Amino acid sequence: MRRSKAFIPTTKEAPSDATLPSHIFLSRAGFITQVAAGLYNYLPLAKRVIRKIENIINEEMTKIGAQEVELSFVTPADLWQESGRIEKFGKELLRFHDRKNNLFVLGPTHEEMMVDVVRNRVTSYKNLPLNLYQIKTKFRDEARPRFGLMRGREFIMKDGYSFHASTEDLDREFDSVEETYKKILTRLGLDFRIVEADSGAIGGSGSKELMVLADSGEDTIAVCSKCEYGANIEAASRSRRSHIPEAPQAEFNKFQTPDIKTIDELAEFFKIDAYYTIKCVAKRVVYEDTSEIVLFFVRGCDNLQEVKAVNATEALDIVDVTEEELQEIGLVPGFIGPLDQAQAKHVIDSDLKDAKDMICGANEQDYHFIGVELNILSDVAYFADIAEVNEGDICPYCEGELSFTKGIEVGHIFKLGTTYSKALKAEFLDENGKAQPFIMGTYGMGVSRLVAAVIEQHHDDNGCIWTKATAPYMVNIMISNIKDEVQVTAGEALYKQLQDANVEVMLDDRKERFGFKMKDAELIGFPYTVIIGKELVNGHMQIFDRAAKEKQDIKNEEIFEKIMELL
Ligand code: ATP
Ligand code: MG
Repeated sequence: MRRSKAFIPTTKEAPSDATLPSHIFLSRAGFITQVAAGLYNYLPLAKRVIRKIENIINEEMTKIGAQEVELSFVTPADLWQESGRIEKFGKELLRFHDRKNNLFVLGPTHEEMMVDVVRNRVTSYKNLPLNLYQIKTKFRDEARPRFGLMRGREFIMKDGYSFHASTEDLDREFDSVEETYKKILTRLGLDFRIVEADSGAIGGSGSKELMVLADSGEDTIAVCSKCEYGANIEAASRSRRSHIPEAPQAEFNKFQTPDIKTIDELAEFFKIDAYYTIKCVAKRVVYEDTSEIVLFFVRGCDNLQEVKAVNATEALDIVDVTEEELQEIGLVPGFIGPLDQAQAKHVIDSDLKDAKDMICGANEQDYHFIGVELNILSDVAYFADIAEVNEGDICPYCEGELSFTKGIEVGHIFKLGTTYSKALKAEFLDENGKAQPFIMGTYGMGVSRLVAAVIEQHHDDNGCIWTKATAPYMVNIMISNIKDEVQVTAGEALYKQLQDANVEVMLDDRKERFGFKMKDAELIGFPYTVIIGKELVNGHMQIFDRAAKEKQDIKNEEIFEKIMELL
């Protein structure tokens, strides 16, 4: 491609709402333009990157026998009613009527559609397993679209679905897709980690996320210092503490604690470790058509993990409540404890199940109970894992310590089981001629998010640094002085030679100043720029390596070989 003809509208200005490097540089370097919140146009450079990612995905998926399909983007709302997900997805689902007044949605994911494709077409265990996938635009009316391609409303996803006759076969396929996803991310040149993920309220037995490690990641992941364990903080668990602080010795009693409302004040008042206090986090829990106040109790040294709380209550969402709302149902904010369950539903963190020597609110203004033993509640209370792990907590699998890092979720693989096939009555006949629901897996990968993830992991102050597998063009030939015929001739010759060798090459033949063109090349992030300049007459060109930020002199006659070697 000749740069003079290329449509690459680079600019100095980043969009005013852009905070992440990928958003800033993809916009400034002319890869994308914004249409509206969460809607982007992919310009020629972005389209090339996307195609490369898609090609790698296709190659690797094909190797494990998955077959590519393409399902209609517009999907009948009926299918979503059948699966019962229309409410669960809520406002993220963009709904509209056609001229005959039929209700449709823009597909945010395609479980329902894929089950519909397979049901009544695959009818025997003999035709299983089956793994079908597509790479397709998705639409989710995200509450907070942001960060450019990272969280769009319209975005590209590779979504795959597998159908099995047994859970063993699903397990095998799940492992095989996990391996394939690893290969894809490795080929893309990304540093990533596979972590255990939240399986959500729809359950399922296994769920893993692929996280590209980057400081700007929206997800926090807990990783073990010793073993392979890693988990999204939404799903991370821990072992019981081995070093327990010294316990406050006291008989059960009610104690006056005037105006002592926070955990810090309480721990200070009694001169104890917050480990021995009980924190109440009151929330309004939202279900399909009702909501209620639920009190979540965790140790004072812990925090409530909201996704775990949503799962524990099988809620759609949980939202904050005001002190007034609590007072209305007879609660005393600042002094709420778990011993009196009359006013609201309680969920108590499992770590408190047999806790002793605890201090908690007495449900009475200015009073706390001391010397509390939680085992008296074991028959009446609901215990669940609702606490967020802390850095320094002990790994659930070994004695290593957990620490946090940030990740970008680029993939999610999930053992669905029979949730959808049962809801949509999709069955096959097993070996004994008995009808059984398909056992399913689902495998997503964010293609457009991957474009952003590459840049989040690979950039510097000057712009993008594409990995070899993702670069829109591998080589940029820079003719420093376009008026110098010798330089032009050499540039054109190398351009032709590289094109003939099927190298993706750009020829910067613009009548701009060298400094300007170099800045532009760095912003776009070509892995290699060949500089044809003053040294040409002395028999040299230069290769600028974008990632290493190094220039190397190469003899004119060796330049082609050298480039081929670098690629
Ligand atoms: P997130 O927690 O980031 O919202 P999700 O759990 O909703 O993701 P899935 O439904 O599992 O995501 O979708 C599969 C993949 O699609 C994700 O791993 C992610 O890479 C990508 N993806 C999801 N939502 C978006 C979005 N709004 N913009 C771009 N990519 C997305
Ligand atoms: Mg989401």
